[in-house]
Amino acid sequence: MIISTTAIRPLKFQLKLQDSTSHPGTDIMSFRFTRSDDQQRNQYLNYKAGQYAVVDLGTKEDPEGPMRSFTVASSPTEEECILISTRIRDTPFKKKLANLDLGTLVKITAPLGNFVLPEDDNSKPVIFLSGGIGVTPFRSMIKYATDKQLPTRIIMFNSNRNENNILYKKEFDECINGNRNLKIIYTIAGEEQDRTSSHSSSGTVHDEWKGERSFIDKAMLIKYLTEDELNNSIFYVCGPPGMLKGMQKLLQDDLHIPEGRIKIEEFTGY
Ligand SMILES: Cc1cc2nc3c(=O)[nH]c(=O)nc-3n(C[C@H](O)[C@H](O)[C@H](O)COP(=O)(O)OP(=O)(O)OC[C@H]3O[C@@H](n4cnc5c(N)ncnc54)[C@H](O)[C@@H]3O)c2cc1C
Repeated sequence: MIISTTAIRPLKFQLKLQDSTSHPGTDIMSFRFTRSDDQQRNQYLNYKAGQYAVVDLGTKEDPEGPMRSFTVASSPTEEECILISTRIRDTPFKKKLANLDLGTLVKITAPLGNFVLPEDDNSKPVIFLSGGIGVTPFRSMIKYATDKQLPTRIIMFNSNRNENNILYKKEFDECINGNRNLKIIYTIAGEEQDRTSSHSSSGTVHDEWKGERSFIDKAMLIKYLTEDELNNSIFYVCGPPGMLKGMQKLLQDDLHIPEGRIKIEEFTGY
């Protein structure tokens, strides 16, 4: 059985919006909130790397309701604030989120979920398969493992529609410099994959892309993973439903990875 990561936790914190930023050439925005409750200073947001929380904006006119789940993309080792990142689309919830004034208090549950690093065994490698905005829990876990100098071997395959959409690249580069157990393989597979010199959607001209250029598939995993890594790793998959379906097929049908070595976090609503 594939491990489920959902549960209900009603406790609400009130966190203050400190900063919001747009990522050029994409519809992605990142938001930083204070980590302690604005009203009760002793209420400090404790969480495990990879967990998510439910944000309640009180949006009355949204057909999907006033709440959305977001992974806490920051690491518990980042003491000052918590980070969430999301695609801003034409829904009342997202429009309200995008236009919040700095200093606004936002209701958020205590983080929950089991999409976290193995807690009692650092010896098994972990393989992250990330699709687009599904990179958020992997930022948290990679930053945590790097700050804590965990011995866990981490290999991430990070797939995006184009180069602009590669989120947290700078942070990941810093982690690679400080963590010899970390390897990241970037691939772009989407609207721009067939162009030889890539003009980004923001109009910027990039040097020719040096990473991979296809969806994550069997050939790519075999190219970068040793037999031991394929046979002993725990595979973490996160992204929109379509990507998860493809990755489940790849891992279970093509590579015969048992369900007990696969953890999945589905980003509903995409
Ligand atoms: C455990 C968990 C963690 C999550 N973490 C994150 C995270 O870190 N970051 C993140 O962004 N999301 C995350 N999500 C998903 C998030 O909760 C929302 O569902 C998602 O961001 C979509 O919200 P929305 O308001 O844009 O669309 P919704 O209102 O939720 O969308 C409803 C439907 O409208 C349609 N729709 C709306 N706008 C568009 C559009 N522009 N193009 C195409 N179809 C559209 C879609 O068919 C969609 O199914 C997470 C979900 C879960 C369960």
